[in-house]
Amino acid sequence: MLELHSIAKSYETGDLSQVALDGVSLAFRDSEFVAILGPSGSGKTTLLNIIGGLDHADSGDLLIDGISTKDYRSKDWDTFRNNRVGFIFQSYNLIPHQTVLANVELALTLSGVGREERRQRALEALRKVGLAEHAKKRPNQLSGGQAQRVAIARALVNDPEIVLADEPTGALDSKTSTQIMDLLREIAQDRLVVMVTHNPELAEEYATRIVSLADGRIVSDSRPYDPEAEGRRERRKEIRPARMGFLTALSLSFNNLMTKKGRTIMTAFAGSIGIIGIAAILALANGVNDYIMSVEEDTLSSYPIQITSSSFDMTSMMGISMDLDTEDEPAEAGDLHEVSVIDRMFSSFGNNDLASLKEFLDDDAEEIDRYARSVEYRYNVVPQVYNANTTDGVDKINPDETFSALGIGVGSSQFMAQLMSTDIFSELPENLDLVKEQYDLVSGTWPEEPTDVLMVLGRDGTVSDFELYVLGIRDGDQLDAMVRQLANEETVEVAEDDATYTVEDLMGVEMKLVLAADYYTYDSEHDVWMDKSDDEAYMKGLIAKGEDLHVCGVIQPNEEATSAFLTAGVYYTPELVEHLIAEASESDIVKAQLADPKVDVFNGLTFEEEQEGEGDGAFDPESLFTIDEDAMADAFQFDEAALDIDASALGGVDLSGLDLSGLGGPGQSEMPDMHFTLEDLGIDPSTLVQPMPEETVEQMTQALAGGYAAYLQQWAQEGGQAAGEEPLTFEEWMDTEPAQAIVSQFVGSYTAAVTQQVMAQLTEAMGTYMN
Ligand code: ADP
Ligand code: MG
Repeated sequence: MLELHSIAKSYETGDLSQVALDGVSLAFRDSEFVAILGPSGSGKTTLLNIIGGLDHADSGDLLIDGISTKDYRSKDWDTFRNNRVGFIFQSYNLIPHQTVLANVELALTLSGVGREERRQRALEALRKVGLAEHAKKRPNQLSGGQAQRVAIARALVNDPEIVLADEPTGALDSKTSTQIMDLLREIAQDRLVVMVTHNPELAEEYATRIVSLADGRIVSDSRPYDPEAEGRRERRKEIRPARMGFLTALSLSFNNLMTKKGRTIMTAFAGSIGIIGIAAILALANGVNDYIMSVEEDTLSSYPIQITSSSFDMTSMMGISMDLDTEDEPAEAGDLHEVSVIDRMFSSFGNNDLASLKEFLDDDAEEIDRYARSVEYRYNVVPQVYNANTTDGVDKINPDETFSALGIGVGSSQFMAQLMSTDIFSELPENLDLVKEQYDLVSGTWPEEPTDVLMVLGRDGTVSDFELYVLGIRDGDQLDAMVRQLANEETVEVAEDDATYTVEDLMGVEMKLVLAADYYTYDSEHDVWMDKSDDEAYMKGLIAKGEDLHVCGVIQPNEEATSAFLTAGVYYTPELVEHLIAEASESDIVKAQLADPKVDVFNGLTFEEEQEGEGDGAFDPESLFTIDEDAMADAFQFDEAALDIDASALGGVDLSGLDLSGLGGPGQSEMPDMHFTLEDLGIDPSTLVQPMPEETVEQMTQALAGGYAAYLQQWAQEGGQAAGEEPLTFEEWMDTEPAQAIVSQFVGSYTAAVTQQVMAQLTEAMGTYMN
């Protein structure tokens, strides 16, 4: 079923070229136990990786079921690896925080097998290797031989046709090695096992065939196989497509976001550049979040169940991406092939009645307590926190606004905003014992007052430079400068800093709490409430009057902590949230709004009127007069140069040197080192560039000209001229909502196109890389 034809592979390091394989031709029987022997550096691992589709040859061909893999795309390789190959490594490669059972199940998760079946099959595989009773243990509670047997169970759980083992006994003593070899021999009864070893005795005793390598060439083969001579047998297995990754899902939701986006032209561009980089990181962070979740599972002994006010069915997203990926031919040539993305997208949103649920839980508390360790409520309340020191201006600490210059979080959907949050503040669990079990006080005390906050460090007492910036311990202006440079597509100059920081620095942070309701003052003349949060003098006064947030202590994961489930940052008490809710309900603006719920206190309009104003039918200028669009376009010199994106700047989606090894905060020491560059991903930065088509620029210019004409008409109709007022100039009008809507429409679809392209590339490359 597997044939290698003149496979060659060399590695370039610097200007040195190292030949790993030099014209290897080899065919395997459907079931046999092949040992690959050879000294270190002879190319054994490289050969195994190529057979398993983990690496690809420079030249030559690998035939699977008699079919060349030359045209295989990364998806085909994924399918091959996930469904037909099982890998066993010298170092076991088990995930330390997962149970033995979860480790074995993982292989099935990747190939899209349902939960119950997954469990059954994983247990069956563990039974085969004699470890069923160890299913609940963790890898570090096993001996080396047992750990390797778990790895074998993991390789077997998919019932692969091919099992590849790279020095599986390299780290084991001879007695344990014998057990493993017995197991492999049994496995090889009905499938192909290829094992790399440098132990000739083991190979002699167990393998049915020995292939020796030296310097990347085959020097002997004890039982060669010629499929042509023996009549090629073909065996096909039904192949399940590999499941779409979360990256694909992310890129989809992302595209949706991008079409809605767009404030000014430049921030839209800057945003797309920044967001792509950040989305790439987030895609990885998401993977890290999954890991943190599994750690939470360990800590809380069962999975925390979260019920949110509106829910979004991720699996339907997966479904969407599957559909987009179908390569079915349309019924007739020329027919379009419609995929109901929008339909399925919207039908997957749902709302939950949390008020009733809370009532139910509260009434029935005893019953629930038998099953849940802790029931906690989260409210959509974001404490507004400022640096107490306002001598250098107003410095908002929470929610974090560092990246707002990039357009992130502004106007994004709640889902995306959450994903992209850079806030360092979080709420402590109500049940503080959960925290005390895993964390030690480094300084100070546990919180006692509602306004006490805890600083949480990472393992080994780490704190991120970002947090230091946000808290004002490092100079926040430096960070702002870097973000501005990024937004302006300039080279970012990273601030140097040799200073060291201490726990006392954290204990000494002085913060003020401001009530969101206090941002607004009543304007009795117009009977509306005005937002004063941009008014520096007003804000300084507000901060001075604000309540103190008191840093009561600094904590850090303790020695025994198997997991640190709080990411590093600042934590406030649930009591603070209750306090804020109570204060808010006492505020005048909230009272005023509640007194007349139909009328928006900000503008005196009813909410219905507001909606109508936005609707399509509100005002249709075209029904009133016609516009000579060419003449308008000529009349208003639109600055096209501003739309000309510098290709090199877009190429500045430069992930080279991106080091993700520190990603995800505490508890990450077991994460593999994730350090890679665009080059590693095999992406040529210049392919990420796609200038805005001239045609689009033209259309946008005309649409803007039309929009301005409509504005002038409306202004005249409303009697602006009679009142002796001046209309807005074209430039001023460009800052208004309708103008921005036109811009977003064009820029949005362009950005979406570019983003889609870039994300598709990144998704594929990163998916392969992560695999
Ligand atoms: P073996 O498994 O037999 O010890 P390998 O297949 O690992 O041998 O390596 C074969 C040759 O290729 C060695 O000379 C090794 O240094 C080189 N090589 C393997 N992987 C890489 C790599 N990623 N980069 C550079 N050289 C490599
Ligand atoms: Mg090796």
